[in-house]
Amino acid sequence: MAPEDVIASVVEDVAGQDVLPLLHVLKGKKNVSEFTIAEELKEEINTIRNKLYRLYDFNLVEFSRKKDQKKGWYIYYWTFVPSRIPRLLREIKKKKLVRLKEKLKSEQGSHFYECMNKCMRLTFDKAIDFEFKCPECGSLMNQEDNAKRVEHIISEIETLERDISVVEPEFIAEEEQDMMVEDEVKDIPNLKVKVVQKETKVKIKMPVKKTIKTKLPARKSKKR
Ligand SMILES: [Zn+2]
Repeated sequence: MAPEDVIASVVEDVAGQDVLPLLHVLKGKKNVSEFTIAEELKEEINTIRNKLYRLYDFNLVEFSRKKDQKKGWYIYYWTFVPSRIPRLLREIKKKKLVRLKEKLKSEQGSHFYECMNKCMRLTFDKAIDFEFKCPECGSLMNQEDNAKRVEHIISEIETLERDISVVEPEFIAEEEQDMMVEDEVKDIPNLKVKVVQKETKVKIKMPVKKTIKTKLPARKSKKR
């Protein structure tokens, strides 16, 4: 895949396909006003912000802001940061690897039945339910030799594992860079809310665990 296509596919995977036109506007530029983006894409400013925040969640954009002296509000200027792409690509590949391993397990763990007319493929249990007749066309379903399928999945798994291990070393330096960026940028309201939520969740969990621990021995001693 060409680098451009890799970027587009990663962005689509993490932030959604509807973000791609926005990505196109940002690419190759710096500090693009969100109002300029809204104008270019002919979309509401809130829609644009929603998309930008989705990209920001994955550190794919950075922003700076300036106060509009006349209106008194802040205007945000956005820049696309592709440095996170390799790391995200690795995460996507790791997820795909998990899915493929599950698929392999299922292929190796059961027999499959296929309609003579190829309209359906069912597991043994499902095929029994339909008395080995295709629910679509009524033709007989025969046990399928899935050796080729299994072989294909195994080779996909091997390729992915190789990809992931090759890309691995590049990230160490990159993750350090990302951490620096995260420390610098702290004033997006959305992010503050998220951090607060995470903290309160932890705080709530801690006392619950403690009370359970203290209650249990107390009950036992009463029974004795
Ligand atoms: Zn059929």
